[in-house]
Amino acid sequence: MSTFLFNKIIFGPVKSRRLGVSLGINLLPVDTKVCSFDCIYCECGLNPGKRENRAVLPGREKVFEDLEIKLKEMIGEGVLPDVITFAGNGEPTLHPGFGGIIEDTIFLRDKYCPEARIAVLSNASKIDNEAVFNALLKVDDNIQKLDSGLEETIRLLDRPNYNFSLKKTVEDLIRFEGKVIIQTMFVKGMFNGTEVDNTTERDVKSWLELLRQIKPQSVMIYTIERDTPFDTLKKVSVADLDRIAALVNDIGIQTQVSG
Ligand code: SF4
Repeated sequence: MSTFLFNKIIFGPVKSRRLGVSLGINLLPVDTKVCSFDCIYCECGLNPGKRENRAVLPGREKVFEDLEIKLKEMIGEGVLPDVITFAGNGEPTLHPGFGGIIEDTIFLRDKYCPEARIAVLSNASKIDNEAVFNALLKVDDNIQKLDSGLEETIRLLDRPNYNFSLKKTVEDLIRFEGKVIIQTMFVKGMFNGTEVDNTTERDVKSWLELLRQIKPQSVMIYTIERDTPFDTLKKVSVADLDRIAALVNDIGIQTQVSG
């Protein structure tokens, strides 16, 4: 139940179960979550109600400056990141300067730690924006969320707060022509008196069909790790995650499972 917010623009490095030694970049405010989804499992908590003041996003120059300071500090300590990851308090591609910040990050990565990958963890809500789409094509790990093949499950689990269409999202994911990694959070339990379970045969079958169309380079399959806003949600067993991964492997797509 005790969710948390990142209180800095640059955070970590942390050992990520999915990515290795990860230096995080939070392009959202440090005091509130901003997201186009409101997932019931979100580790940052639920979206806040209306604020009196507009949420303040960090400027491009400040992100550049803080990232450069941190990379120099890490070099001084002899620890370099395996990956520089855009994540944080919400959806990073909502930042209006996202494309320019990606270019800056590539510049700083090439200068200070050319071996490091650049990853973006996103919910795919802005991939119809050409600037965002083109920026995502430049990163090493373009990781986009697809939690089910059924729109009704996504609405229950991820609660998009924009004009969401699963069909349109999939069409946009196909436009990456395989330069995309799909991330899927599997979760079970109850939410507001309704059963939640995206591991059902219907969910998984329709999700596999969409993966066939998207042809991603791989799929990250995982479940709840930390506290979520509702204690009525449960982890999915590693055996179930492995069973789902095997089905993805059967259609010729690699998987990474974190239980
Ligand atoms: S997309 Fe990510 S940040 Fe947004 S609500 Fe879902 S889990 Fe939280």
